[in-house]
Amino acid sequence: MPRQKRPVRERIRRKCHTCGSIKWVEHRQFHIPTFDSQGGIKIPTYNPNAKKPKHEDIKGVVVENYCSIECAGDDFINNYTEDDFLR
Ligand SMILES: [Zn+2]
Repeated sequence: MPRQKRPVRERIRRKCHTCGSIKWVEHRQFHIPTFDSQGGIKIPTYNPNAKKPKHEDIKGVVVENYCSIECAGDDFINNYTEDDFLR
């Protein structure tokens, strides 16, 4: 089954989390909070017919912007992608 093509991302300028420069964002890292059953943040049940929420709109998600892969660091390799986030 072919994977759905990812939407083109709008390019934005943000302050780099590592070096502090205002540059074009080349990489973004989303820190997804841990979800638990004891009053923690809950992700809504995935509905394929629903529009995907932006990561920024999900409560508890911290977004970090990086101007380069060097600033993003090794952790970026293990980063979530949009495809992995909700399924
Ligand atoms: Zn940077």
